[in-house]
Amino acid sequence: CGIVGILGTHEVAPTLVEALRRLEYRGYDSAGIATVNAGRLDRRRAVGKLVNLSDLLVHEPLAGKAGIGHTRWATHGAPTVGNAHPHRVNGVAVVHNGIIENFRELRAELAELGYKAETETDTETIALLAAHHMDRGDDPVTAAGKTIARLEGAFALVFLFDGQDDLLIAARKGSPLAIGHGDGEMFVGSDAIALAPLTDRITYLEEGDWAVVTRAGVEIRDENNTLANRPVKTIRIDA
Ligand code: GLU
Repeated sequence: CGIVGILGTHEVAPTLVEALRRLEYRGYDSAGIATVNAGRLDRRRAVGKLVNLSDLLVHEPLAGKAGIGHTRWATHGAPTVGNAHPHRVNGVAVVHNGIIENFRELRAELAELGYKAETETDTETIALLAAHHMDRGDDPVTAAGKTIARLEGAFALVFLFDGQDDLLIAARKGSPLAIGHGDGEMFVGSDAIALAPLTDRITYLEEGDWAVVTRAGVEIRDENNTLANRPVKTIRIDA
């Protein structure tokens, strides 16, 4: 339901939770974050209010300057820790808003290839598919591009990868997603309000766009995989 991603210059866990707090108004049943620290992807998830996630993070902190976060409003699968985002398969983690309409077909296809679902969610299928492509030798950008091309439905998503602390891949189809430009930092949010304390320089992805985000900037492709020029707007939100 709410998405945030940060390639930062400081520890991102507190900032991720803070940004998720700004998305609480959308409603949610569980929450989670993932970071890459010293190249290693790890995650924490909790059912219920964000305070449960922040309490968990006190006892089991998550270091790292790159990360993604999510507040979930369950559509497929009960609101449990196991179904909470980020979903992770091998070296791929993903947060997702919306619904993947063709996840049952994809899940059956992937099960035949040995990639078995462990959750009840449509979201896990995205991570399974991307992990499958990476296991076959694709780099993260290629794997994400192939994965996004197979997804049907209305969604917004962000990928984070093990071993990659300067890479987020974001996609938008039927659910809004904003890229925030900082000074040596980059952000992704399901709306600009989440990013308001972090930056006021926003690029809105258009329908069918997907974006390769690094601290140096963002490269956006449209649904035909053609490089697209999307404007950076300076917005005003009273934080
Ligand atoms: N369909 C996904 C799920 O149930 C995402 C729901 C959401 O937008 O939070 O996990």
